[in-house]
Amino acid sequence: MISKPKGTYDIYGSDGKYYNYINAVFQNVAELYNYEYIRTPIFEDSALFHRSVGETSDIVSKETYDFKDRGDRDITLRPEGTAGVVRSFIENKMYGDTNQPKKFYYSGTMYRYERPQAGRYREFTQIGVEALGSDSPLMDAEVISLAYRLMEEMGIENVTVKINSLGDKESRDNYREALVKYLEPHINDLCSDCQNRFKTNPLRILDCKVDQDTEILKNVPKILDYLNPDSKKRFEKVLEYLNYLDVDYEVDANIVRGLDYYNHTVFELVADIEDLGNASTIAAGGRYNSLVSTLDGPETPCVGFASGVDRLMIVLKKLRAEEIKNAIDVYVLAVNEEEKITALKLVQDLRWSEVKCEMDTLDRSLKAQFKQADRLGARLLILLNSEELQKGIITVKDNLTHEETKVDESEILDYIISNM
Ligand code: ATP
Ligand code: MG
Repeated sequence: MISKPKGTYDIYGSDGKYYNYINAVFQNVAELYNYEYIRTPIFEDSALFHRSVGETSDIVSKETYDFKDRGDRDITLRPEGTAGVVRSFIENKMYGDTNQPKKFYYSGTMYRYERPQAGRYREFTQIGVEALGSDSPLMDAEVISLAYRLMEEMGIENVTVKINSLGDKESRDNYREALVKYLEPHINDLCSDCQNRFKTNPLRILDCKVDQDTEILKNVPKILDYLNPDSKKRFEKVLEYLNYLDVDYEVDANIVRGLDYYNHTVFELVADIEDLGNASTIAAGGRYNSLVSTLDGPETPCVGFASGVDRLMIVLKKLRAEEIKNAIDVYVLAVNEEEKITALKLVQDLRWSEVKCEMDTLDRSLKAQFKQADRLGARLLILLNSEELQKGIITVKDNLTHEETKVDESEILDYIISNM
């Protein structure tokens, strides 16, 4: 028997329900905020991720799935969604559209060679939005509040937005200098990854999952103290707008994000759920004003976020285990051929009247069909019986109260619909 690759899993049964539910709610919310659907390839030229996510990021340095295709091209399975959207924006010259800013939403699988554990897989699904072309703090506030309201819409209430600002380039350079000065005497006490990050990208050290709770990292200088006046003013505007939108946020100087392309606003949505372990971040994003130009497009300010559907599934299973299930409205019971033909037609008519229903296709006995109807959670049972059918009568049974009603065959559809 061939097994699934490590770090992947199959979505079926009730997982399928949760997966589709999350995507449906997301699609609805994103459309309400006037974001357009975009789909980009699952694999791209490897250079796209090296130049966007960054050579020194964890993702590119140790998590990507890279391979050569049969034409000897360097290909990478996408580890995240933003780079592909930006590539498409540039390649399709969307910056030239009169309709600006461009606002997109996507949903798709991503691939990272990580150590599999709860909420962390090698193939996982992200939903996300990208707003390209606006530098206004209003846009940051819209994107953050969209993420926040999306969680609320799904019934995930105990969510905090952790927010920080990395400022502009000048602020970041000043901070980096202060950080390096502070870390230098302690560097040998940090993990080996952090010792490398110290040389290549010291800001990354703040994002380390190993050293996070050490005294050294708890006392690092705060980037917010190094923002220049413009960056500071900008950050305050974002927070002010979030106040107007009633978003529950917390300024957290340790949020730096694992990807190279962020500046100014960065944020994470954290769910207070035990089952997620060190994977409690259910969505993350920020502003990336230099990414489009880094990828050879025109200077274009952008902001976006992505959320891990697999983690949302874990959260919803915990919070709403009973609600999101696969119950049907009606089960039609039929045993002999005449009853089955009536059932066949009736089931089609019901389905096209928006009634979710089922009938037997396994030649079950009547008793077994009652059991199956219970298993499927049917609210109403239609009991077809040849003798009654000859008189033009059909019995409907309420599966909860067990009350039976005789209905004229010609009125059965209307009766069921009005009792839904
Ligand atoms: P983490 O800090 O948890 O590793 P990240 O910073 O790598 O997350 P992003 O690249 O910002 O995460 O991705 C956004 C979201 O995608 C995360 O908040 C998480 O919900 C989800 N995600 C990231 N990596 C995985 C994974 N390997 N498996 C499942 N979901 C993931
Ligand atoms: Mg990660």
